[in-house]
Formats: sequence, C-alpha cells, structure tokens
Amino acid sequence: MVKQTIQIFARVKPTVRKQQQGIYSIDEDEKLTPSLEIILPRDLADGFVNNKRESYRFKFQRIFDQNEKQETIFENIAKPVAESVLAGYNGTIFAYGQTGSGKTFTITGGAERYSDRGIIPRTLSYIFEQLQKDSSKIYTTHISYLEIYNECGYDLLDPRHEASSLEDLPKVTILEDPDQNIHLKNLSLHLATTEEEALNLLFLGDTNRMIAETPMNQASTRSHCIFTIHLSSKEPGSATVRQAKLHLVDLAGSERVAKTGVGGQLLTEAKYINLSLHYLEQVIIALSEKHRSHIPYRNSMMTSVLRDSLGGNCMTTMIATLSLEKRNIDESISTCRFAQRVALIKNEAVLNEEIDPRLMIIRLQKEIQELKDELAIVTGEQRTEALTEAELLQLEKRITSFLEDQDPESKLEVGADMRKIHHCFHYLKKLLNDKKIHGTSIASSEIKDQNSQEPLKEEEYKKLRDILQQRDNEINILVTMLKKEKKKAQDALHVSSMDRSELRRSQSSPFPPGNPEGPRMLPPSAPTQAPDSSTSQYRSSLLHGKTGMKEEMSFGRQEAFEIFKRDHADSVTIEDSKQILKQRFSEAKALGENINEARIKIGRLKEEITQRHVQQVAQGISESTPVPSTPDLLEEKLRSQLQEEKRRYKAMFTHLKALKVEIEHLQLLMDKAKVKLQKEFEACWAEEATSLQVNSPAVNSLNHMKPFPQTPESQHERSQLLSSKSSGGWEVPDQGPQVVSCSDVYARKILPSPGPLLHSQEQSSPSTPLEDRIPERPVSSVPLTGDSRTDSDILAFIKARQSILQRTEPTTLCPALSKQEGLSDGLQGTLMRETADLDPVMSDSCPERPTRSFTANSLQFRQ
Ligand code: ADP
Ligand code: MG
Repeated sequence: MVKQTIQIFARVKPTVRKQQQGIYSIDEDEKLTPSLEIILPRDLADGFVNNKRESYRFKFQRIFDQNEKQETIFENIAKPVAESVLAGYNGTIFAYGQTGSGKTFTITGGAERYSDRGIIPRTLSYIFEQLQKDSSKIYTTHISYLEIYNECGYDLLDPRHEASSLEDLPKVTILEDPDQNIHLKNLSLHLATTEEEALNLLFLGDTNRMIAETPMNQASTRSHCIFTIHLSSKEPGSATVRQAKLHLVDLAGSERVAKTGVGGQLLTEAKYINLSLHYLEQVIIALSEKHRSHIPYRNSMMTSVLRDSLGGNCMTTMIATLSLEKRNIDESISTCRFAQRVALIKNEAVLNEEIDPRLMIIRLQKEIQELKDELAIVTGEQRTEALTEAELLQLEKRITSFLEDQDPESKLEVGADMRKIHHCFHYLKKLLNDKKIHGTSIASSEIKDQNSQEPLKEEEYKKLRDILQQRDNEINILVTMLKKEKKKAQDALHVSSMDRSELRRSQSSPFPPGNPEGPRMLPPSAPTQAPDSSTSQYRSSLLHGKTGMKEEMSFGRQEAFEIFKRDHADSVTIEDSKQILKQRFSEAKALGENINEARIKIGRLKEEITQRHVQQVAQGISESTPVPSTPDLLEEKLRSQLQEEKRRYKAMFTHLKALKVEIEHLQLLMDKAKVKLQKEFEACWAEEATSLQVNSPAVNSLNHMKPFPQTPESQHERSQLLSSKSSGGWEVPDQGPQVVSCSDVYARKILPSPGPLLHSQEQSSPSTPLEDRIPERPVSSVPLTGDSRTDSDILAFIKARQSILQRTEPTTLCPALSKQEGLSDGLQGTLMRETADLDPVMSDSCPERPTRSFTANSLQFRQ
C-alpha cells in the first residue's frame, strides 16, 4: 500500500500583456516546496479581498511558469503517474482552474502544433511504448471517455453521438454494488491495442464533444471530461490479473459568481457557477478535515465517479491552472486556496491484483479431480455404476492421443478408477486385435525374411554405421542450405511486397491537388503495428458525416462555405497544419525509401558474407587444408558494413515510427478543425437564415429598391460608399447589431437564401409585374453596379430567378434562366466580374457594422 497526499502542481498560462508581470513571483529557493506569491495590485487590494493583505503565498509541489513546455509538464507530472499505473496502481490527474486558464491545453493539448500535445496523447504514447518493451506480461488496454454535463453523464465514444443530440443519448448512470464499488452503466469501453487506436478514440471523443456543444450548452467550459485508460496485465499462465485505471480529468471552469458584500466589497467566498464543482469542494473540505466520518461523495456524479481518486485507492495529482492577469486575480487566489485544501487529502493506493475467476475455476476443477482420485485410492472404495457415454468417449480420446504421442515419457492418466482402467485395457486389446487381422500377412512375411538372413558381421556393421553417419552429415548440410535459400526468398518477397504496398499507397492519390490532407496517408508502418482501420474508419465516417454535408449543399451554400472557410481565423492554422503535414509526409516517404534501400543492402551484405563462407569452405575442401580459424579481412569488412547498415536501418525505422505518430496526430487535429469549421458555418448559416426571415418583412416595407441614378456624381458617391470604411450602401439601418453575429467578412459577402421568404412573396403576389416586384426585395440584398445595362440585367435576373424558383430546383436555374428570360449573353460573366470586383472592397470595410449583401443564390452563377 502506498500512502500519499494528493500532489499539487501549479501552471501559469502565458500572459498576453507584459505589464501584468508584477502580479506574482515564484520562490524557487525553497527547493522542496516552492511557493507562489500573488501580489495584489494597489487598486484591487483596497476593495476586493475582505482584508487588506497585499500578497498571498501558496505552496506547491512544483510551479511551472509561463514558458514551461508541454514536454516538461508531462515528464514531471504525468510520467510518474503513468509509471505507477503500469505497476498496477490507480492514478488520477485533474486540472482545475477558471475558464481559459489552460486546463484543456494541459490535459488534451493545443490544436496548432504537434509539440502542443497535452498529457493524454503523451501518456498514451508512453504507456504503449512501455507495453511494447515488456514482453513478460500480457497487457490489455481499454479506453473510456465520459462527459458530465449538468449532473448527467454522457458517453463521448457512443457512436450515436453522430446522429443524436446530447439530450437524446442514453445517460451514463452510476450503479453501486454491495461492496460499494462504482459501476458506470452505458459507458462503453473500447479496446485499444496501439497508440494510434487510442489516439483515434481521444479525437473521436473530442469531436463528439464539440459537435454536441451549442451556444446554450457550452460544454467545454461547463462540463467535466474524464478520459480513462483501463490497463490490465497478467503473466502468461498465471491466474492473477492486475488492473489499474488512469483518469485524466479536464474539469469545468472553476469561476464563481462573486457575491457583493456590504459596502460593495467583493467577497472571495463566492459561489461556483458549476454545481458539481461545489460538491467537489464539499468533498475536499470534508476529506481535509480530520475526524469527519461522512464524506458526501454521493451528492454528485463527478464525486461518485472520482471517489477513489479523492481519499481512496489512487495516486492523485492536481494541476492548478492559473491565468495570472489583473482581472483574474480573485479567481487565481481561489484556485490556489482550493489546491491548498486538496494537498491535505491522504490517499491510500493499493496494488489492484485479482484472481481471474475463469482461470481459477479450471485450476480448481483439476484439483478436485485429483483429490477425488487420491481419495478413491486411499479409501479403497470403488465405484460400480457403468461409465457414461461421455466418460467413455473422453477416455477413448485420451487413449488415442496417448498412442499417437511420440514422447516415450508420456503417460495415460485415468486416475484410480478401476472401471476406467478396465476399459482402457479392453480398448487397447480391441485395437491390437484389429491391427493383427489387417497386418498378419505382412508381419509374418517380414519375420520370415529376417529369420532367413544370417546375423551381420561386425565389420559390415561398422561400415554401415559410417555410411549412415555420412548420410546424416549430408542431410544436415542440405537442410542448412535449403533454409538459407528459403530465407533469401522470403526476404526478397518481403521487400517486394513492401515496395508494392508503398507503390499502392502513393498511387492511391496521396494528395489530390488542392487537398493535400486528402485521404489518410501513412508511411510504411511498422510490421507489428497494423493501423487500426475500425476506429479510423469510424472516425473518418463520422467526420465525413459532418464535413461531408458539403456534398449535399447547394452551390450557393457551398460557395458561402468556401468563403467562410477562407476568411475564418482557423484557416491559417489549418493551412499551416497542411503544410507541416505535407512536409512530414514527404519526409516519411523519403525515409521509407531509404529504409527499403537499407533493407536491400543488408540482404546483399548477408549474401556476400555467406558466399564468402562457401568459397572458403570450397577452397578448404579442394586444397584439403582446414578452414582458417581467423576470419579474413574482407569478411570482417563486410561484417562491419552490415553492422553499420543495421544501425542505420534501426535509427531510420525509429524515426519513421515517430513520424507516423506525428502524421496521425496532425491528421486528427485537422479533422477536428474541419468539423469545428463546418459546425460554425452551419450555425452561422442557420442564424443568418433566421435573421433574414425575421427582418425582411420590415425591411421590405421600409426600403424600396431604387437603382442608383446614373449621374456621374452618384456613381462617384456609390464608389465612395463601396470603398468607405462604413460600407454604408450595404447597410440596413434599422437592423441592430444583433442581426449579424458571425464573421462579418462572411456576412458581407454571402447570406443564406431566405427560402421561406421567397415562397411567401410568391404566394402574396404571384403575378406582380417586374417593376412592382423588384422593390419587394430588401434594398441591401441586391448588389448594383451603377452601370444601367448591367443593373437592369441583374434585376431581370432576380425576377427570372424568382419565377423559376417556383417551378424548378435552385441548382438547375442557370440554363433555364438564360433561355427563358433572354438575358444578355455576357450577364453571367459580368455578374461574376462585378461580384469579384466588389469582394475585396467589401472585405476592407468596417468589420463591426452589420451589413447585408446579395443572397447566396445570386452566387449560384459562379458555379
Ligand atoms: P480552459 O480549458 O481552462 O478553459 P484552454 O486550455 O482552452 O483553457 O486555454 C485557453 C487558451 O489559452 C487556448 O487557446 C490555449 O491554446 C491557450 N493556452 C492555455 N495554456 C497555454 C500555455 N501554457 N501555452 C500556450 N497557450 C496556452
Ligand atoms: Mg477547456
């Protein structure tokens, strides 16, 4: 048993502004327990904390300042916990801190760089590396990923996540057995045999979490996520199994509702926004107080799930994430105070060894039988009832395998049951008699032959023995040669199959133009690690399900999505990732080629050495001189070359494996970013569609479309409007800023087509003439160029489109349109040019102002 208090660490998130730096200091001198001093700025010290202290000092196991890398965090915090989990102890690492302080960054990692990967991917990598090294045990790893939101548990690895909303998914519930062990119903456990499979599960869960998130359900700040690695190990042949769990927990934001005390002073003892964090605090307080008999674990789901981690059978570590900026000072102090309490909790971790009941049953059954047999011998008691059919059958099977066994030491074990012994004799007699009848003639003739021959002479006997020895030697030599040939053939086959698979991979459109991230592309994998197709397939189908919506999009929507994508802040990250991925992939490809070359070279060197040997032996035989005992210089050279090549091969192989993991990780990050983008676009699209519907009638009644008068002044005015920062010409003044809340750049360019609105217009005035109909559209929704011909073309187009919309699908508009309405041939080109010209102007215009633009359907021209 290992008794240990919960280990507490602090991590300070990099601050954006330099002037915030005077707010804290880390005292590293106290080597054993470093301390963090938070210094209250003068203006805050007066009002906010209930006394007028100017600084607060908190002790931590270790404090990681702003510049500490993810690698350092893993090495110092997670690696020791992972090691104890590998040894069979339970472990928990949880991150606690306000929203934005770096909990997710620490536990899961950042999405931008491979080096930003957090504790979970690094721990998985470490654990699988260790499992591979240790061949003395059989390990099994399972993964589960639980999200607790509003006191309800959800399985983040549930495949139904894709199709259902969070509320419709089956809830994970807690069951407690008579021994007070917690079991989670509806939480799936997934077998992961490689690091890749486990990583896929992590990303699948994260993606599911993101998909489920809505503005009303800010899961990432209000929910707790528990990623659990279940590890079991067993020595071959042993019935004892070690089982350990590692919980990696990303808690909800710890921010509180600040209570204002008398005189407007803020009190630090404020209430948590998150109820389960409140219960967590209660459990922590109860545990940190001596002589408290009742610990209120049952109050909340999270404390029930983490029961062992808090004061139980677990080695637990807390990371307090701090965002030490002036405005966060009170939350940071609360986080540190919480950590100080946590540090008082003592856990008692025990080795989780269990006997596997199945193996135990087999062992006990055997023992019972042996004891029964022994008892029968000792008591001399004999059973008299006839043997059953099944017993007879089993006995005969045993006799057959006994007779077939070539081992002279083998035994026929039937116990002390006389009935069985008798049956064995009967059976053997029967077998013998059967054989006799069949083999009499042959046997008798053989005996006769032998009798007719004279006994062999001693001399002849020796000669024959020598011949036999000679033949034996020959056979040995031939067998060795055969083995070598076979090995060579296998090696060649292996190399060529590697080549072929490499070729296949590169042929299957590695990076289609403009889409370098393309299909999953892995470098030639380690022979032992087949990529897990099931989870990647599932994930990719999930991602495809989410991102693949594009295929069903109308052209306008697709175009809108393209623009949204281009202007989204994440596109830079995605682009960067693409570039890195591309680079890593070509590195991996080059490496794969080098590895193959090295492999071929190794094969060639081995062959040369063998040939050299054969030559020497042949030389020795022909000159009848013994083979020189010291190896010759050429062979030595070949051997050292071989060693060198092998070293090179190994180094490259290790590098390739690392690259493979990195590629996989980057790929997953990009997949995740894509889903995020798609989700944001969908939300934005839906929002815009609603706002269009809500606002259009009012707009219609207020604004009647007036094509710009074609005077030079007005044209000048117009161009000024277009290029001015305020983008006034495109504004709808009576629409408040609430109308457009998504990317303004996007909103300025593309807005969803107000389908239902159009429909209602058609219904209200099905046969309105063009001049009367046009003004019904919001002035801002139709882009005009100022050129009368083009503008009238545009207006004609709008009218035509509306009438066709009544009859045809939007995607089939273009050909129908030009034929039926007789628009000028150059219209399509003109529109495209005009809109293309306008775009850059519009993107420069004021980003804060809500703007309206032409509808997405007008962009269908661009297809
Ligand atoms: P939380 O999960 O606590 O709400 P996040 O982990 O999402 O906070 O962090 C908020 C932002 O700060 C993210 O963009 C993240 O990448 C960044 N961040 C947090 N910690 C660090 C760090 N140590 N180094 C660099 N960036 C960080
Ligand atoms: Mg977070």
